[in-house]
Amino acid sequence: MPPETDTLRQQLEYRKRLMDKINEIHSADSLNTILIHIKDSIAALFNADRITIYLSDAKRNILISKVKSGSEVQQIVIPISDASLAGYCSISAAVINVKNAYDQHELRMICSNLKFDDSWDKKTGFITKQVLCVPIKFQKAMMGVIQIINKKGDIPFDDVDVSYSMELASSLSIAIHNIYRLSATTKIIRNKSRYNYLLDKNLIDDKILEKASNHPDVSKIGMDTLLMREFGISKEDMSKNLSFYFGTDFIGYDPAQQPLDEETLRRVKPERLNKEWWVPFKIENGILHIIIDDPTDLGRQDMLKFVYPEYRRISYIGAFREDILSYINLFYHYGSSSTSSSIDDILNKLDTSDDTEIETESQKVSEQDSVIVQLVNKIIIDAVNNKVSDIHIEPFPGKEDVQVRMRIDGRCKIYQKIPYKYKHAITSRIKIMCNLDISERRKPQDGKIDFKKFGPLNVELRVATVPTTGQLEDVVMRVLASGEPIPFDKLGLTERNSRVLDACVRQPYGLVLVVGPTGSGKTTTLHSAISVINTIDTKIWTAEDPVEITQRGLRQVQVHPKIGFTFAAALRSFLRADPDVIMVGEMRDQETAEIAVECSLTGHLVFSTLHTNSAPETITRLLDMELDPFSFSDAILCILAQRLARRLCSCKKEYVPSPAERNDIITEYGRDDFAKTEINPAEIKLWKAVGCQKCGDTGYKGRLGLHELLEGTDAIKSLIKRKSEIELIRKQAIEDGMTTLKQDGILKCLEGLTDIKEVRKVCIK
Ligand SMILES: [Zn+2]
Repeated sequence: MPPETDTLRQQLEYRKRLMDKINEIHSADSLNTILIHIKDSIAALFNADRITIYLSDAKRNILISKVKSGSEVQQIVIPISDASLAGYCSISAAVINVKNAYDQHELRMICSNLKFDDSWDKKTGFITKQVLCVPIKFQKAMMGVIQIINKKGDIPFDDVDVSYSMELASSLSIAIHNIYRLSATTKIIRNKSRYNYLLDKNLIDDKILEKASNHPDVSKIGMDTLLMREFGISKEDMSKNLSFYFGTDFIGYDPAQQPLDEETLRRVKPERLNKEWWVPFKIENGILHIIIDDPTDLGRQDMLKFVYPEYRRISYIGAFREDILSYINLFYHYGSSSTSSSIDDILNKLDTSDDTEIETESQKVSEQDSVIVQLVNKIIIDAVNNKVSDIHIEPFPGKEDVQVRMRIDGRCKIYQKIPYKYKHAITSRIKIMCNLDISERRKPQDGKIDFKKFGPLNVELRVATVPTTGQLEDVVMRVLASGEPIPFDKLGLTERNSRVLDACVRQPYGLVLVVGPTGSGKTTTLHSAISVINTIDTKIWTAEDPVEITQRGLRQVQVHPKIGFTFAAALRSFLRADPDVIMVGEMRDQETAEIAVECSLTGHLVFSTLHTNSAPETITRLLDMELDPFSFSDAILCILAQRLARRLCSCKKEYVPSPAERNDIITEYGRDDFAKTEINPAEIKLWKAVGCQKCGDTGYKGRLGLHELLEGTDAIKSLIKRKSEIELIRKQAIEDGMTTLKQDGILKCLEGLTDIKEVRKVCIK
């Protein structure tokens, strides 16, 4: 047989084995099959000692492969750079065929900086000689590298090897592309184990997982956030779930967390942390704790060992990205002045020179644009982190600086002054964020900012602009604390109030009202009350404006009065949608009130709010709205009036009041009513505000509810039917066990929760 034919047969044989391999690659259903299982037989095909298939991760600029040693699978990570042959192959997208990896001269002929990474050889004692690296490309995208090492017989890889390996690379690229494309399905399978806790608790099911993984936003915000945003999973449940999944703690944001020392913080710039989603958190017993969005990410763990080589142990704690950003913001803002992103740093970037004209046209805002954007973002982020309810932007005529005030616990405080030159720029920026007409400055406008489009927090703000003197505009932003309801037993209701309200919300039908001025926490209380009966066998519809608190199980509807979808319209549509319980944000008008009463008399439990000052006044107000007294009296279960008073900080000081002060308090409570409380006047003690670092020297921290709960007893119902005077209703309610707002407040003063000054302030009629 002539030698040519022999070679030809060999080649045909080689070719056939290659085709088999390619078929095997195409039937691979996962990257692991390719990376781990198929590759050894590929090595045999090329008569080589070893083969590694790398996949590129362009975002992190690395190549990743997996090696099986025993039963364990290890990950190999190398940078895409000229520090290794495979890395260089990936950059240059060219085939690299090297006779001896240790021959510096040979490598330099390919690229002057090219190096052979000998760390694997050093670790294992293996000696690399011939190396053939072939890029895996699909269309123009670089997907990875095949690296074949040491041809048997110590001879160089030849042209046939090169052309076959290229063919192999092309098949691999298609197979990998298909696996990526199909990853939507594999994602469901992968995600399933990630959400075991939620599945076990029946908070989600396979259908929801499938729906979520097909949602158009899933690639943008990720499954975790999507499940929370669209499928009603609370942040708390998701944290628990991820804690189980990662096997580490998973924490939320706590603004009281103390930052680490400056030295540890300064080692890494916040800009980098912002991109890499981690932040040094605390040091305990010589262990450095780091918060990271994925505590199992080995790549970043390796990197962090280099950032903090002095720590023998680094422990990882999981957190949501938004919370990591909040911590970065907290630590680097309050930490040292050398680190950036504090409000002062941003203000320093503004041009404060006096020679330029005040910008009157919003169009002129350009070169300082990005700083204004940062400034507005910073104001909003600080507000959210400090639990601010409202942000006030207040420009003045002439060369007076813009004042920014924030309302915390019901009081406004100055947050910052901004150079007067930017008074138009800053209001324009806010108006752009909520799609308002920036050229219209003579009429008030209102809108809404969905901040997650602009910054790292998922928060909404309701914006109102008001034209002020000097052709200026004030902007007021209400931070819509998108949150979960406060547990019912944390509302601060007295034993009697808690018992009566709980009994009312468990009735099959009737009307429950929560009343008080704006900002008195009515919605919070309503949601807490509804949470008591929010079970799977009850259908609950809510119409709100805006939806501030979300609860899984409720069907929540945002009304749009501008397009005619009013509270009344929502109520009517609910009646056709098989409700058990209906919550209507506010009974603003006669029509809404009438439908609400009608609903409650046709077998539904109805919750709503009103802007009235006291529980008895609510009755006369509704009767003034021409509500039918007979229907109303049949419907009413209870009316809860509410106020928020500032809560004394733990730095408060106990004292014994003077006889005069004691006398005042008893008079205010009502001498007869006080006698019924069985409190011994001689034993009365009070607390006063002191002030410490924790409460910003105000003496108060957080707020507490004061309540007045009128029960719809038979006696009250009959007074309503007779359209009785408010005084008669009040007397009867007190007889039935009601304590007035003031009385409830005084009782809470005696417990040291607040002080009498606060109670007087919020209980003014
Ligand atoms: Zn304090």
